[in-house]
Amino acid sequence: MRVLHSHLRVALFVAVCLSVLAIPAPAVAVPALPAPAGWPLRGTPVVQRGFAPPTLAWASGHRGVDLVARPGEAILAAASGTVAFAGSIAGKPVVSIDHGSVRTTYEPVISTLSVGDRVGFGQVIGVLGSGGHCRGCLHWGLREGRSYLDPLMLLGTRGGQLRLVAESRREVVQREAQARARAAASAAQSNAIIMTPAGRSGSHGFLHPIAGAVTSAFGMRLHPVLKIWKLHDGTDFAAACGTAIRAPYAGVVTRAGFNPAYGNRLFLSHGSVDGVQVKTAFNHAARYLVRPGQRVSRGQVIGEVGSTGLSTGCHLHLMVWLNGRLSNPMSWL
Ligand SMILES: [Zn+2]
Ligand SMILES: [Zn+2]
Repeated sequence: MRVLHSHLRVALFVAVCLSVLAIPAPAVAVPALPAPAGWPLRGTPVVQRGFAPPTLAWASGHRGVDLVARPGEAILAAASGTVAFAGSIAGKPVVSIDHGSVRTTYEPVISTLSVGDRVGFGQVIGVLGSGGHCRGCLHWGLREGRSYLDPLMLLGTRGGQLRLVAESRREVVQREAQARARAAASAAQSNAIIMTPAGRSGSHGFLHPIAGAVTSAFGMRLHPVLKIWKLHDGTDFAAACGTAIRAPYAGVVTRAGFNPAYGNRLFLSHGSVDGVQVKTAFNHAARYLVRPGQRVSRGQVIGEVGSTGLSTGCHLHLMVWLNGRLSNPMSWL
């Protein structure tokens, strides 16, 4: 700060001298900040540690802000730009985005983006990894050339009011992205693998939990958010947000909770069915209407379809375990 102050003092002195000489004063360099811009996390994150730049280049300080975040939580581009770096620095996964005049940095963030990839404001750039200098948090930085700036400047300089504006803009972008994903999901519905009307029973008497089409089957696939090939460990049913999720079979709620990847989850144990121990799990729901320990009957409404966790639009991700082994739900239902 002292360095900055002395620079400002020199700049002011020069400006005063120049104006005395009736020569136009040089403009003070203020970085052009990208707009729209906003938080790199969904919602309004808690700042765990603020910006405290070192007074000397080599001295210690805090060259960014630490935001409270959960491992696996989606990290968003604070503004649109181009990926300038995505990789490991001293064993720590780092992403840097070039916005023209400034760059934002995100660590520890696991991303499959490559240098040169274009990213939009609010777009998911990866998930929070481990190995950062703070536990359970995202270190978010802003640089102009070699100098570090306070990334909270991106949220606006007039405090709360502008922050709210930045926040609402980001929400608009996210809503638009979700609407696009929903449109894509309903387009996929027309060429769905299987049409599955609710109430149709399978060979073991299990119902389909919602009257939606299967949009993504169990098996290896390119993850829609992480953009990496991984096992899709369940079956996706397309459905509008708020659609009722029904218990496919009588059982007991064994567990319910939030997971950064699966969103709101609920687990049902159906006991032994045709000699097989069957468990099911429901993911990404907006909410559940039943609690752990509660008995549910076949066809009972247990929750509402949502898009919580790593999800690009409202859908149900159904998982099935047969004798404790994760299985293709459609092999049982
Ligand atoms: Zn930090
Ligand atoms: Zn899924």
